[in-house]
Amino acid sequence: MKRIYLDYAATTPTHPEAVKAMLPYFGDAFGNPSSIYSYGQEAKGAIEEAREKVAALIGARDEEIVYTSGGTEADNFALKGAAFANESRGNHIITSSIEHHAVIETCKFLERRGFSVTYLPVDEHGLIDSDDVRRAITDKTILISVMHANNEMGTIEPIAEIGKIAKEAGVYFHTDAVQTVGHIPVDVNELGVDLLSMSAHKLYGPKGVGALYIRKGTKLVAFMHGGEQERRRRASTENVPGIVGFGKAVELVRQEMGEEAERLTHLRDQLVKGLLERIDHTHLNGHPIMRLPNNVNVSVDYVEGESMLLNLDLEGLCASTGSACSSSSLEPSHVLLALGLSPEQAHGSLRFSLGKWTSEAEIGRVLEVLPRVVSKLRAMSPLLKSHK
Ligand code: PLP
Repeated sequence: MKRIYLDYAATTPTHPEAVKAMLPYFGDAFGNPSSIYSYGQEAKGAIEEAREKVAALIGARDEEIVYTSGGTEADNFALKGAAFANESRGNHIITSSIEHHAVIETCKFLERRGFSVTYLPVDEHGLIDSDDVRRAITDKTILISVMHANNEMGTIEPIAEIGKIAKEAGVYFHTDAVQTVGHIPVDVNELGVDLLSMSAHKLYGPKGVGALYIRKGTKLVAFMHGGEQERRRRASTENVPGIVGFGKAVELVRQEMGEEAERLTHLRDQLVKGLLERIDHTHLNGHPIMRLPNNVNVSVDYVEGESMLLNLDLEGLCASTGSACSSSSLEPSHVLLALGLSPEQAHGSLRFSLGKWTSEAEIGRVLEVLPRVVSKLRAMSPLLKSHK
């Protein structure tokens, strides 16, 4: 059976060109970038070339990019680094209630260390009101962290508006752009951010590598201590093959992004329309327009997300209930609850995230299989019987 992968927000397949670019760095070009002889300089040259590509994609300068082990480390570095470097100025942080766990759990850690965190609510479409951000700022606020787009329900947040507010107030502004970099235009100056997290495996690069953009002059405490790599901002020998793969993936997405976003938006809208037409008691989660081109998140009443997933899997379809990171947890998604969904509705949600290899025929297959799966499950559903 041909499998159909519709979970690109969890991770993307590594682009074959990125794999090809990485291979020499597992072989002959194995040098340590900190070594001064030619092996080292070859590796150093490769990671600097990748840095130029990553910086160019987001309108940054090369020296403002620090490689990390992925989006989670970039988020931890940004939040802990800014909090600890600026605690003499204040202890207040503003974030949203729909952030990825990499931000939420870091905020909880910081609360246990004496920081105070405001978790802003969102409206029914998952949008943050920038006036709420303005009102939450106090003379103790040192950092605002709001994600660029949500990984579960795809809503794109008004980052440029919040950026202006943060700048006026003289407060550092971080955005988790793991789901947007490489998918929609991201420019650190247009967004007005001081810190921005990204991850290679969400844009057809390898897993275990990412970067934090740090605007020149931003005060951050180093997160990893040891050697002098990354201008002393992140110790440890660089993941050379991973970084080279990241750079290649960035080069490729940059060339294709505009057309690809248009193609995926069309497929996304086709899938949403088809699902809402063919399955009754189904609702779209997230913003209808201000959403990622590749994200479809629906709640299907009277059935459980996990049961739908398992049945889809039997038919070769891979999707997700909420985020991959929380899919092993039985707790309803904090993001869907923040939109005002009941725990039952949150449990009955499915996320399809489309990508480079998604075709119209695959969308057609979902529209054929899911209504059948839902009818079968509803026929056995105690949830539906108690509703009747
Ligand atoms: N932030 C967001 C919005 C994400 O979607 C993810 C991954 O799911 C992460 C952070 C974590 O990134 P990584 O898997 O590279 O640590």
